[in-house]
Amino acid sequence: MPLLPARFKPYTRQTIGQARQWEWLSEAQREEVQVVSHVMPFRTNEYVLDRLIDWNNIPDDPIYRLVFPHRDMLAPEQYGQLRALLQEGEPAAIEACVRAIRHGMNPHPAGQMTHNVPQQGGVPLRGLQHKYDQTVLFFPSAGQTCHAYCTFCFRWPQFVGMDDMKFDARGSGELVAYLQHHREVTDVLVTGGDPMIMNARQLAAYLEPLLDPSLAHIQNIRIGTKAVAYWPQRFVSDRDADDLLRLFERIVQAGKNLAIMGHYSHAVELRQEIAQQALKRIVGTGATLRMQGPLIRHINEDPKSWAELWQTGTRLGAIPYYMFVERDTGPHAYFSLPLARAHAIFQAAYQMVSGLSRTVRGPSMSAFPGKILIDGVVEIAGEKLFALQFLQARNPDWVRRPFYAKFDANATWLDELKPAFGQEKFFFELDQPVPDIPAVHKVIRLAQAA
Ligand code: SF4
Repeated sequence: MPLLPARFKPYTRQTIGQARQWEWLSEAQREEVQVVSHVMPFRTNEYVLDRLIDWNNIPDDPIYRLVFPHRDMLAPEQYGQLRALLQEGEPAAIEACVRAIRHGMNPHPAGQMTHNVPQQGGVPLRGLQHKYDQTVLFFPSAGQTCHAYCTFCFRWPQFVGMDDMKFDARGSGELVAYLQHHREVTDVLVTGGDPMIMNARQLAAYLEPLLDPSLAHIQNIRIGTKAVAYWPQRFVSDRDADDLLRLFERIVQAGKNLAIMGHYSHAVELRQEIAQQALKRIVGTGATLRMQGPLIRHINEDPKSWAELWQTGTRLGAIPYYMFVERDTGPHAYFSLPLARAHAIFQAAYQMVSGLSRTVRGPSMSAFPGKILIDGVVEIAGEKLFALQFLQARNPDWVRRPFYAKFDANATWLDELKPAFGQEKFFFELDQPVPDIPAVHKVIRLAQAA
């Protein structure tokens, strides 16, 4: 096995030819990487290439499929057209073709650009999203890349220069001002890209203002990251890894819950010793580490992989949290699985693990109205149905209300489902108040420690 890479070295479309593994791909495989990576972002690194991909299993290896673009991610006519244009080498025509394909891929699903951006004094706050009462998402501009790019990523417009479709905040000033006026917010989720791409000093500049006494209502600071899998050296051996952990400790000592939202896609990511070390070092600071990731065709359809991931994580001190349904963006047709199958995979994996790992929830769709859990497939009055419920919702009154959709073996997303029992619309499409149930979601004042 090659030595563990000590310094982070990324590879992109322009530089992947320098990686020794590039020679191991066939000419056809190299061509598809080159063509498709004009549309989808492509970035990998030495650790992913050396330690996570099994090169004897190409192209079926799950991590290879996770980071290397494939021909089938584009429609055959799109692939053919782009390939021909690249051979002709006319930049304007290539750009127009790429742009058209990208815009046809639902670049900002679930109303992210139109419905979730908050305003202060009538001005939209670039770099913030506020969809659910308690949680604000924050996109620091220095954290809008990743250690490698996942081919299914729903944040892909952030990486490909679609500037009109980009979220980022230069500093935390606007965030702090917004939070001071929104006492209902208890959680800030710092996300990207991957905030862990920043050095410890940059990250501290964004996070330490959140410890100000004027923001005592902020209880939880969450950081979404894939570094735990793609570059665990970030928490173990990077030059400022210890500074990063000291920052985590300062946040915890200031009385906040620091939750690292670790994105894991496959059990192989946590088989590496350094990945296990990273996990233990994170929880050793007093932070919590929650495991989450989407269920993706070609990559993690095997329930045993999920069960191993959750069991290993639990043993090391992490908390299994979410299995998501692959979002309706990017090469969705290539990666999506029918909801019925997603539920069957989740159920099989859940049945393999002990109660400690059953903190995990799923499969869950992060759709426009909220996070919807597929609870099961049931039969009521002779009708086969999906049992569903909101875990989070734009209207808090919708949360944890069971509802039903007609069973559809092929449906992959909410908008393909039809309401059950002859109804024309789901209850949340009517947006009626819930009868006989008081609005109980009002803000609860936080108890101060004596
Ligand atoms: S790590 Fe997350 S943000 Fe980065 S490419 Fe993968 S899914 Fe997207």
